[in-house]
Amino acid sequence: MRRVLRWRDMTLPAVRDDPATPSPRDWGVAILLLATATTAGLALDRYLSLTSQAMIYVLAVVVASYRLPWAVSVGCAFGAVILLNFFFVPPRWTFQVEGQEHLVALVTMLAVALVISHLASSLRRETRTARRSEQRARQLQALATGLADAKSPGEVAALAAEALAAAFPGPSVIALLTPQGEPDLPGDLAATFGDGMRCCIREGATLGPGTGRWPGLDAWYLPLGTGGQTTGAACVQNVSAYDHAGREHAQALCALVAQAAWRLKLTASMEAVRQEAQWHLVQSTFLAAISHDLRTPLAAIVGAASALQTQRDKLDAAGQERLLACIVSEARYLSTLTENTLQLVRLGHADRLDLDWVSMEEVVGAVLGRVRQRDQSRRIRSRVPPALPLIKADPVLLAQLLENLLDNALKYSTEGIDLAVRQVGDRLEVAVEDRGPGIAPGEEQAIFERYRRSDRSGRGGAGLGLAVCLAIARAHGATLTARRRDGGGSSFVLALPIHAEQPREVVE
Ligand code: ADP
Repeated sequence: MRRVLRWRDMTLPAVRDDPATPSPRDWGVAILLLATATTAGLALDRYLSLTSQAMIYVLAVVVASYRLPWAVSVGCAFGAVILLNFFFVPPRWTFQVEGQEHLVALVTMLAVALVISHLASSLRRETRTARRSEQRARQLQALATGLADAKSPGEVAALAAEALAAAFPGPSVIALLTPQGEPDLPGDLAATFGDGMRCCIREGATLGPGTGRWPGLDAWYLPLGTGGQTTGAACVQNVSAYDHAGREHAQALCALVAQAAWRLKLTASMEAVRQEAQWHLVQSTFLAAISHDLRTPLAAIVGAASALQTQRDKLDAAGQERLLACIVSEARYLSTLTENTLQLVRLGHADRLDLDWVSMEEVVGAVLGRVRQRDQSRRIRSRVPPALPLIKADPVLLAQLLENLLDNALKYSTEGIDLAVRQVGDRLEVAVEDRGPGIAPGEEQAIFERYRRSDRSGRGGAGLGLAVCLAIARAHGATLTARRRDGGGSSFVLALPIHAEQPREVVE
């Protein structure tokens, strides 16, 4: 099941490290905490012993250690000891300490406050590291899921760019290699970054701060892939040499992107190989068709034409007519065969057809006009109801499909042939039915294969007509089925989809 990528999964909220220099706001909070502790101590002076007042300061230091940077919490610890000494330790309102016992108490309190501050800072740092690791793991998972669904290098590059932007505060760039082997760099990228990315692709190694290669740079340059399988590079700017975890995360992101880009590359080359193989198959079948199926009718045409040329005087009118009819029929067969073979080649290579709004009534009219010229017995009866919806189709191909079906019906039957068009739900069905020998049981699918013939009567044919019909039907999103007709004969039904949105003029 296709999982939709949720961008929320990818977002990596900034997890701030303690800044090197604490902000004035941090110091302000520390002063406020100490002022509150002092006020509380003074207000409760009558009810509290010196030990309890010291505890109030320790509480302030604990809060500061948990919330504020390490340097501020250490400052807060010293401040607490100084204030306790000044306001509460006898002699009060002086910085002097009376007696060894008070001095020991103050030093002990300072030591406790410093230990607490250190422990709280470490705990906070570890919590942040754990949270960030968890977020990074989630981001990698979301990216892997998104990349698994990516269908083009553009999609891969977009997902990778968003992942890097979410993971790192500085600007980042990602460039995949074009088929010419050059990184697809954004036009507005500074030349130095472009050079760095090219160098990184050439070396196939991470460059930049903390990597041991080009440490003087202020950005990481990460290759997408390793060795000879590099598919591009990424550049993450404004990074620190000490951010090992960040660099490892960037490398993990790039490894995922490289795998996805490599997968797409392999898929594309497999598709190219498949198309090449198909092209060779088509070429060889085309050659086979020419050598086998075209030779017989060509020999007949050449024979009849040279007989006409050399012995016209000796032949009576009926004999001449017979030879001419043979030439016309064999030439028509050649033309149909060539047309069918070429259509198979065309349909095998067309990514999509140029479909247009087509009236089935008009297509059927044109096809009947052509087929009836060669159907002297006028056996085809057609039923096309008025005001049928239009369909999206290639009219030339659709006409060829119907012509093949009608030609087969004429070839394999001697009685009347019915061509009926009807709307069934959201499909337009065209049925061509005859009273001929019918389809042999179990052959209903097989007769649509190329060069497949199940006719034992000796009537000529290359076995391509129905294969072309099926290819045309599929190219239109339609189905073509064959079955034995009730009461004898065969029934071929083409079911074309009707688009709910019809062109405006027709609706009006
Ligand atoms: P061809 O007619 O040149 O042999 P087709 O691909 O048109 O090639 O048809 C494949 C096979 O399907 C035919 O050889 C024939 O056995 C069978 N077939 C096609 N149309 C009919 C039909 N209307 N009635 C009976 N058999 C048919």
